[in-house]
Amino acid sequence: MSVLVYIESQDQQIKKSSLEVAAYGRAVADAMNTSLIAVTFGLAYSELLSHYGVDKVCNVQTEGASYFNLSRHSATLARVASEEKAAVLIVSGSANGRYLGPAVAMKFEATYFSNVIGLPLSFAPLKVKRSCFTNKAFNYSTSHKEKVVLSLAANTYGIFEKKVNMDQRTVQYASSTSTLEVVSEEKSTQQVSIADAEIVVSGGRGLKGPENWHLIEDLAAVLGAATACSKPVSDMGWRPHSEHVGQTGKPVASNLYIAIGVSGAIQHLAGINSSKIKVVINNDPEAPFFKAADYGVVGDAFEVVPVLIEKLKTLKGN
Ligand SMILES: Cc1cc2nc3c(=O)[nH]c(=O)nc-3n(C[C@H](O)[C@H](O)[C@H](O)COP(=O)(O)OP(=O)(O)OC[C@H]3O[C@@H](n4cnc5c(N)ncnc54)[C@H](O)[C@@H]3O)c2cc1C
Repeated sequence: MSVLVYIESQDQQIKKSSLEVAAYGRAVADAMNTSLIAVTFGLAYSELLSHYGVDKVCNVQTEGASYFNLSRHSATLARVASEEKAAVLIVSGSANGRYLGPAVAMKFEATYFSNVIGLPLSFAPLKVKRSCFTNKAFNYSTSHKEKVVLSLAANTYGIFEKKVNMDQRTVQYASSTSTLEVVSEEKSTQQVSIADAEIVVSGGRGLKGPENWHLIEDLAAVLGAATACSKPVSDMGWRPHSEHVGQTGKPVASNLYIAIGVSGAIQHLAGINSSKIKVVINNDPEAPFFKAADYGVVGDAFEVVPVLIEKLKTLKGN
């Protein structure tokens, strides 16, 4: 028996959400008194995982392995899970993790739990707490199968280090069951993806137009943050759709989310529930976003943000 974690990487860097998955997997493996195995795709250097409790890495190395391909990734993960006699397979709550989870569960003939929060409440049978209705409610689910695939809700467990001696092996697979071949990937921007960013600065219609976006970009630059926006902003073409946050956009699980001139409609909030600290700058004290905020500034963005940028620059300079 073992616990398996799917580790995502981009440009040979392990994603933050996957370090959380590894740390979580370690705790699950300890509770089950078994080993933790990580599966990586096309990752040349996986030593970092030994700091997060991974006992063994299976690195899938075939042409194009580093490109996400649902059919191939799910088939390969199910195969490794069978070979390694996995009782629990954990994926992150990222977009790819959420595609993969149910597909692997079907091939591995396992129960699938999405949006899991916290460690399992029991192991025989496996019982978990899950968030549902965009974090408005929780449910408790029990598996009637011995094998379980679960996706961990992002930023809900934490990243804890635990150094172990790690074993590495490379898996070659010749699966050609996929009808889709990813030949290359191109980033829409050079900045860090909002789904993985530690800090996100987001702008809404209150910014009045794209010509004012330097306020968002300058604040993001001084904080080392990614930039994001509300749906109308990307619909109007002020910003690319890759920055649209919310129910119909990307989820954000940053440690700090700064919303400027965003009203805080329920569909926007649905995308930022997993962010830890929310700061809102809005000139309307009745803006709904203030109810979800940890810190709020009632004021005109055009006055508040330049002052904030200068203060932060001074702080950094010191
Ligand atoms: C099915 C559906 C799905 C949707 N999905 C999403 C989604 O995924 N993401 C999303 O964001 N929206 C989504 N929406 C739209 C959502 O309902 C809101 O209309 C949208 O979020 C509002 O965007 P906003 O806050 O930028 O603009 P507004 O609602 O126009 O708010 C602008 C805010 O800026 C403030 N403001 C104005 N001037 C200033 C100033 N000078 N300084 C500071 N503050 C100022 C105002 O007080 C106001 O609160 C969806 C809607 C539907 C129906």
